[in-house]
Amino acid sequence: MEPVRVTFLGSGDSFSSSGRHQAGYLVQGPGTSFLLDCGANTLTGMKQLLIDPAVVDLVLISHLHGDHFAGLPFLFLQYTYDNPRQRPLRIAGPPGTEERVWSLFRATYKELSTKPLPFKLAFTELALAAPVEIDGVHVEPFHVPHQEKEISLGFRVAVGGRWICYSGDTGWTEELITRARGTDLFICECCYFESRQPFHLDYPRIAEHRAAFGTKRLILTHLGREVLARRGELEIELASDGLVVEL
Ligand SMILES: [Zn+2]
Ligand SMILES: [Zn+2]
Repeated sequence: MEPVRVTFLGSGDSFSSSGRHQAGYLVQGPGTSFLLDCGANTLTGMKQLLIDPAVVDLVLISHLHGDHFAGLPFLFLQYTYDNPRQRPLRIAGPPGTEERVWSLFRATYKELSTKPLPFKLAFTELALAAPVEIDGVHVEPFHVPHQEKEISLGFRVAVGGRWICYSGDTGWTEELITRARGTDLFICECCYFESRQPFHLDYPRIAEHRAAFGTKRLILTHLGREVLARRGELEIELASDGLVVEL
């Protein structure tokens, strides 16, 4: 089997704790390359690692918080001027993604946003609990508790015969156990250590359920300062910017 490569472009939280980039994970498998989330400095992460941003076919957005989708206007800029693109770019995310992405683009590059892009920008709105095939990627979105009204998603995706679960941003939910089971990789957010919040995860809670996840490899990301302060004493693997995992 051809390998599936996951590059952690950003392993930090929304505060860029310890100078880490915000959420962005590049998955490269047979016939497709896609981003899981695109935080404000996802393009920076690709360039630091000498990854050609043109490889991205699809961007899956877990939820419409800036540290997960604010990097999109910089991709559009890249694909317009620095590395003009002709092939379409698809963005898939929760309800409201298309409108929010356009309003973000208008807010950040007003004049450019009124002109036609040199490439087709296509959107797919992900319905809860409905698996879809998008550009060769099998995507199972699931609801996670993170925002009060807006929908936040986690993803279970299959590419090249490998399964990856991504928590997005979430408080504790048994759904994580169901969705992580049988996966080759579970990318799980871990904002806190001492603090316990209903809308984010903390290390002790994850450690308590570690065996139940039933994944081949659990990697914690979206790391906040409480977790990073203890990084030398933790048993579960922590992501770092630039980490590459082959599945
Ligand atoms: Zn976040
Ligand atoms: Zn969030």
